[in-house]
Amino acid sequence: MKDKKQSTSTRRSTHITMPRAGWHSGKHLSCPECGNDRHFIEVAHDVTITTSYVQNSDGSFTPRSDDSTINGDVKLYCGLCYADLSQHYRRFAEMIF
Ligand SMILES: [Zn+2]
Repeated sequence: MKDKKQSTSTRRSTHITMPRAGWHSGKHLSCPECGNDRHFIEVAHDVTITTSYVQNSDGSFTPRSDDSTINGDVKLYCGLCYADLSQHYRRFAEMIF
């Protein structure tokens, strides 16, 4: 979180434009830092990937199926400025089709 509190010597009230945190009230999710609403990155930590293989007659292997289990945290980041949007991950996950 960037929360800079600058103390100014003058008594003028400084106008600070804060980006609205969170998503728009509508369907679209957007980054509160840069406004990006198109590119997002999901990072899963501690993932176990299990892949089954079949060995062919020539000794080569062909993958048949794989299964991944996420043991750690799953993070959501803005795809442009990489702001951490993990607090919105649940909503993000519900909207993946
Ligand atoms: Zn962003």
